[in-house]
Amino acid sequence: MPTPAAPPPPTETTDLAALLERQRVRSEVLRREAPAERAARLQRLHQWIIRNRAAVQQALHQDFGKPAVETDVTELYATQAEIRHALKHLKQWMAPKRVSTPLALLGTTSWVQYEPKGVALIMAPWNYPFYLAVGPLVSALAAGNCCVLKPSEMTPAVSRLLAQLVQEVFEPAEVAVVEGGKDVATALLALPFDHIFFTGSPQVGKVVMRAAAEHLTSVTLELGGKSPAIVDASADLRDAAEKLVWGKCVNAGQTCVAPDYLLVHESVQEPLIEEIRGVLGRFYDAAGAGVAASPSFARIVNGHHFQRLAGLLEDAQQRGAAVALGGGVDQSQCFIEPTVLTDVPADSAVMREEIFGPLLPVVPFRTLMEAADFVNARPRPLALYVFARSAEAQRYLLGRVPAGGACLNDTIIHLGQLELPFGGAGNSGIGRAHGHYGFLAFSNEKAVLRQRVGPTGIKLFYPPYTPKVQRVVDLLLKYLG
Ligand code: NAD
Repeated sequence: MPTPAAPPPPTETTDLAALLERQRVRSEVLRREAPAERAARLQRLHQWIIRNRAAVQQALHQDFGKPAVETDVTELYATQAEIRHALKHLKQWMAPKRVSTPLALLGTTSWVQYEPKGVALIMAPWNYPFYLAVGPLVSALAAGNCCVLKPSEMTPAVSRLLAQLVQEVFEPAEVAVVEGGKDVATALLALPFDHIFFTGSPQVGKVVMRAAAEHLTSVTLELGGKSPAIVDASADLRDAAEKLVWGKCVNAGQTCVAPDYLLVHESVQEPLIEEIRGVLGRFYDAAGAGVAASPSFARIVNGHHFQRLAGLLEDAQQRGAAVALGGGVDQSQCFIEPTVLTDVPADSAVMREEIFGPLLPVVPFRTLMEAADFVNARPRPLALYVFARSAEAQRYLLGRVPAGGACLNDTIIHLGQLELPFGGAGNSGIGRAHGHYGFLAFSNEKAVLRQRVGPTGIKLFYPPYTPKVQRVVDLLLKYLG
């Protein structure tokens, strides 16, 4: 017998409202579940990913030529690590946490009890379309929520695969994928979800927060921006060049925490660029056929983003920037060569907008204070990278430059440390993701205090406010003072 076709995903506003309602009813069941039941859901997800590794690789390759190894590391490993971490810690995260009792509340007991927010909306971007959809889903499920997931329309193959994953693994009343673009996103945002977890641009982040305000829905906004890499004179240049090239070129630079631009001590600018030249050759042009022929380098996601990047390059050159390395573009392949730019004017678009592609402007500095001031004159970055052997230089920059996260002597890998919170500061985001922080983002931390029945210390403060009550209050204030 042929398998019945899956029901079409809901897109009409009334369908979406009905879906939310179904999930809201189901969420009351999930609220009462024990850790083992939540773990079983995560296990099913884990097993699906293991069985479908090739399909995920294929979808990513179809969408923007992502090399299979990059999919393995940055989509599959990253997601599986999140699941394993949640499975290992779930029981402990869900357990109520006792807190200590102040003198004035003697005789009471207090704890924090973690309850699911209810029904969450997850909106994902296109740049790591699998990991940035399923990663937050892991946190939402670990915290006991039902979930509507909206993948990005820019990566249609992954969007379809996510819809298939969710149909195969979950009840629609527990997790549903709603595919579509801005219109569908707008219709979803009009609904009273209990939490919205959005990953995307600061520009759309503002749209999300405005819509959430209507229902006072809590939000996690994982946004982007310009993450600087600062290379001190004390840095190991060969080591720094390798790590910078990898961080800038993985996913063809379409990474929220890619080093966006480089601030380099003027004494090491030239030798660093030479090291970068060597690394680019080793990584992507060992056969001498050019980077475009390398199967290790992904493509730009679509014509719109290709044009945007080609425009940034052209604008910089028109304003006097020099192409120190690379500079090749090929529209027919959505290919942008890894490109290092020098003498880049601060008012050029490449220094004002998030680049999100393999263009690397290099800006020299004389003192660390100058470098810190340069970063701080711009919106708060998602990541700060510091390459320095000098502990003093590391300390100085960490202390001076606010950012969502920081990584010393490497790029990007701090987001693989699931014991660390991941998120932005100011323009680069609100709230935290990953591991326990992700669990907390989807949880309501219910504050509980249990009082004794009968005589209690608090009753000493009850009216009428006689001189005796005043004496007790005086004693209490004296104790605090
Ligand atoms: P985007 O903001 O354009 O889109 C993200 C999601 O919002 C998509 O699902 C899209 O369909 C939806 N959307 C787009 N326009 C909308 C509108 N007007 N109203 C409602 N919904 C809308 O982001 P993108 O281009 O997919 O991703 C790139 C951005 O995401 C970059 O700024 C990058 O730095 C950021 N990013 C951040 C992180 C992080 O973890 N902080 C990770 C990846 C990407």
